[in-house]
Amino acid sequence: MEKAPSFAVDIMLGKLAKWLRLMGFDTFYSNTAEDDFLMDLALKERRILLTRDRILVERMGNVAYFVQNILLPEQLKEVATKFQLNEIHLSGRCSICNGILVSISKSGIEKQVPPYVFQTQEDFFQCERCGKLYWEGTHIQHIEEIISETIRSANGQNAISPEKEGE
Ligand SMILES: [Zn+2]
Repeated sequence: MEKAPSFAVDIMLGKLAKWLRLMGFDTFYSNTAEDDFLMDLALKERRILLTRDRILVERMGNVAYFVQNILLPEQLKEVATKFQLNEIHLSGRCSICNGILVSISKSGIEKQVPPYVFQTQEDFFQCERCGKLYWEGTHIQHIEEIISETIRSANGQNAISPEKEGE
């Protein structure tokens, strides 16, 4: 079985880091990480360094990857395509701290979620590191939709079809 890639993401790509975590990829991100620290970490932990810094890529060689796009959806598409992330299915990770989300039973969290959520949702997940709660109906489903849309459009045509046939 092919191992899922893990990433280290530079300070300019915080949103991308968050989405990679939600997709389940082990992603280091800190908004105070210096280049040298990221380089060491990437080498030591065999992480792919995602960066918008060309100098960093030149110093690192193929351990680093230069993210060409500036906007998040395109960045996610670009990275997903480059590293074939859509073929890997993982359990999610916490967008805040990169901890793994584990399924938890509904009993015992009643006071921690809004009443409406407690009544309407059955599947809850909790970050094993920081304790943040996620639930299927809203958050995770929403994420999956966005990710699958992103991946689908990445695999499909990139031309924008004409919206108007005429006036
Ligand atoms: Zn967490």
